[in-house]
Amino acid sequence: MLSIHHLAMPDPRFTPTAVRSPWKAQTTEIDWADGHTAIYPHEILRGYCPCAGCQGHKVEIAFVPGGDTSIAKIEPVGDYGLSFEWGDGHATGIYTFRYLRGLCRCDKCVPREQAEERPTLNRA
Ligand SMILES: [Zn+2]
Ligand SMILES: [Zn+2]
Repeated sequence: MLSIHHLAMPDPRFTPTAVRSPWKAQTTEIDWADGHTAIYPHEILRGYCPCAGCQGHKVEIAFVPGGDTSIAKIEPVGDYGLSFEWGDGHATGIYTFRYLRGLCRCDKCVPREQAEERPTLNRA
């Protein structure tokens, strides 16, 4: 039987418990409540910025190379995502937790032979 409490529990796959982004590091790590630690090269986070300025208003999100990949600030957005402020001041991307989870490039999430691919993604 499902209780109301159970139904209200956030999905642990999309619930971060810790975000680590050391100053000047090239990767950010997020621990998720299901035990997975996701590793995000900053090139990936920046290139997959979902904002309209980077992507237009397309349904799918393409990898857009270039742009500053140093992170100046990470801010929570409501209880559903994060925003990154990049070294060049770009800060309009809102990365939902679902979207971030799908961006993980670790060996468990992306087969090694696909690690260098930059596929077009669906919005989440
Ligand atoms: Zn953007
Ligand atoms: Zn992963």
